[in-house]
Amino acid sequence: RAKERGKSTYQIYNADMKSVSLKKLTLENELRRALAQQEFLLYYQPQMEIETGQIVGIEALIRWHHPERGMVPPKDFIPFAEESGLIGPIGDWVLYEACRQNKAWQEEGYLHVPISVNLSSRQFLKHDLKTRIADVLTETGLDAQYLELEITESMTMDVDHATSCLLDLKRLGVHVSIDDFGTGYSSLYYLKKFPIDKLKIDQSFVRDIMTDPNDAAIVATIISMTRHLNLKVIAEGVETVEQLQFLHQNRCNEVQGYWFSPPVAAQRMEELLQRHSQAAAAAVPPETEDS
Ligand code: C2E
Ligand code: MG
Ligand code: MG
Ligand code: MG
Repeated sequence: RAKERGKSTYQIYNADMKSVSLKKLTLENELRRALAQQEFLLYYQPQMEIETGQIVGIEALIRWHHPERGMVPPKDFIPFAEESGLIGPIGDWVLYEACRQNKAWQEEGYLHVPISVNLSSRQFLKHDLKTRIADVLTETGLDAQYLELEITESMTMDVDHATSCLLDLKRLGVHVSIDDFGTGYSSLYYLKKFPIDKLKIDQSFVRDIMTDPNDAAIVATIISMTRHLNLKVIAEGVETVEQLQFLHQNRCNEVQGYWFSPPVAAQRMEELLQRHSQAAAAAVPPETEDS
């Protein structure tokens, strides 16, 4: 009997494995088709300076417009794209498209702000990252200061690689931020040594700042730490005016979240930029000849 049970368990396990690998194969083919058929698109989420209400940055977030399944969020395909290696061409496309779009907006005369692109660990670990980024900047004509790359703490575990890679990026003139900060295991020692510009406080800490004193303390501490380390800081996932006030009182300058705007399609982002560019122009005192 034990033998029988063993056998049937084995068969179920085997059938499961087959369907898992079949699913993966299907997804892989679908992702290849998506690349070829241009089913990917970028959504854009503005980042706001609390003091002025001005847009100070834009994060590019990938979406997959699947012909049958509709809009597929990144969590449903980015991990698999990483695993299968398809993140290479997908990541290249994201970089190119984000830079191209930002340059196009600048040429329209809108605000010049950096566009942030999320890097996957595979992209960060590849030796040719610097060349790829330099090529994309040349091809699109975007000035390096208007590109920001988001990496996560786990990508900095290989300290030597991270240091040399970050130095390369710094020399190119692009900005680097640490995404989802506080959820990984970065050493504060290296945080000080790495040439990074900004920490993005993970939304899981921001979510409960009004109700959980521990989260409030963590967020306040991260903000004050960035001030001492001379890093910029932005809070992710800000959804309410109370959270915004808390962050402002604790001297966090920038926020990103549904309170200001969810990620939106390019067309909608352009409208936001247009409105904010006009507001910025109105706020600037007119130039006089002797100024
Ligand atoms: P992330 O880089 O931390 O991006 C922020 C995520 O939080 C986005 O989810 C955004 O829609 C969501 N979000 C923004 N504001 C709020 C808010 O106020 N409340 C809540 N609850 N959520 C908010 P999204 O677009 O689904 O992206 C999820 C993750 O997928 C990203 O997290 C990033 O790690 C990854 N990802 C997105 N685009 C790319 C890409 O082009 N390449 C790579 N490698 N990863 C990407
Ligand atoms: Mg991000
Ligand atoms: Mg992330
Ligand atoms: Mg994040």
